[in-house]
Amino acid sequence: MAQAQLSIDLTALRANWRSLSEMAQAETGAVVKADAYGLGVEQVAPALAAEGARRFFVAIAEEGAELRRILGPRPEICVFSGHMAGDAALIRDAQLTPMINSIDQMLRHVEGLPGHAFGIQLDSGMNRLGMEPAEWRALRGIALAQKPSLIMSHLACADEPAHPMNAQQLRSFVDMTDGIDAPRSLSATGGVLLGPDYHFDVTRPGIGVYGGLPFLDARPVAFVDLPVIQIREVLPGETVGYGNTWTAERPSRVATVAAGYADGILRSMGHQAHLWAGETRCAVLGRISMDLIGIDVTDVTGDPDTLELLGTHQSIDTLADWAGSIGYEILTSLGARYNRSYTGA
Ligand SMILES: *Cc1c(COP(=O)(O)O)cnc(C)c1O
Repeated sequence: MAQAQLSIDLTALRANWRSLSEMAQAETGAVVKADAYGLGVEQVAPALAAEGARRFFVAIAEEGAELRRILGPRPEICVFSGHMAGDAALIRDAQLTPMINSIDQMLRHVEGLPGHAFGIQLDSGMNRLGMEPAEWRALRGIALAQKPSLIMSHLACADEPAHPMNAQQLRSFVDMTDGIDAPRSLSATGGVLLGPDYHFDVTRPGIGVYGGLPFLDARPVAFVDLPVIQIREVLPGETVGYGNTWTAERPSRVATVAAGYADGILRSMGHQAHLWAGETRCAVLGRISMDLIGIDVTDVTGDPDTLELLGTHQSIDTLADWAGSIGYEILTSLGARYNRSYTGA
């Protein structure tokens, strides 16, 4: 079989969510946007619900409707993009809770779906999404009278604990929400790790649940093994791959694996990338192609059937470092061509 294997450990996923939830007195939600960070919302969301998650977060209403089908009627499903034009039927039918992020959205929501649940998203300084302090001052009385189910904001620099932006956003969020009788939420994974001042009533971890930084103690969740489809001998002076960017300096054995940048193995990882054959570290040779990569297996005894890309030897953050990226992008890039399997439940 020449299909790359993506194995997802739902036991590790649940353990990560549990660890993050034990760090806070607050209710712990779960962010499952973008197909659960590329790992499969169909399997991930029920596993987290079984572990105790009762409030889920998605980016857009369409993801929310899909999640409702998966999870059934009970859990609360919050939509970060709020109530967009044309979404009323979707929000109503799937019983979604839009995180209202402007006066326009508030008007659209109360006119289109009077009495329907909603939350409020405030901008505490990131300048990405949510109401700014002045807008919130204007709307606050009206919004609170309608009993929002959550008031949230998002931190821009929570993965850098010493960054002054964290305390600044905390102050801004407290200023905007002090004395309000509705559950509050400020923290994603990074904020959970910043400590109790940042926890409020509900936390919203994503990446830490999926095994990525800044949750240093996370268990790896995604495992990728690439099948070797050919092994050849290469003489000194011969080259491997597009553009002749690697030239053999010794008699070498080159394995060609059946995966490439179309499988989210970012081309920008370039010559820093390695795979593993058992305990032997094997360099990527030359350029990563769409479907194939050349690997140096000169020091490997025997002919490996597969080589490990993600697993016990290297994490999504190792790969991200090679590519000048972040673990989030590694996960959400993995793509549709893998043979996916799920272990645990
Ligand atoms: C993606 C996202 C999260 C989860 O962030 P992680 O860093 O993955 O934990 C939480 N809140 C909002 C608003 C988000 O967009």
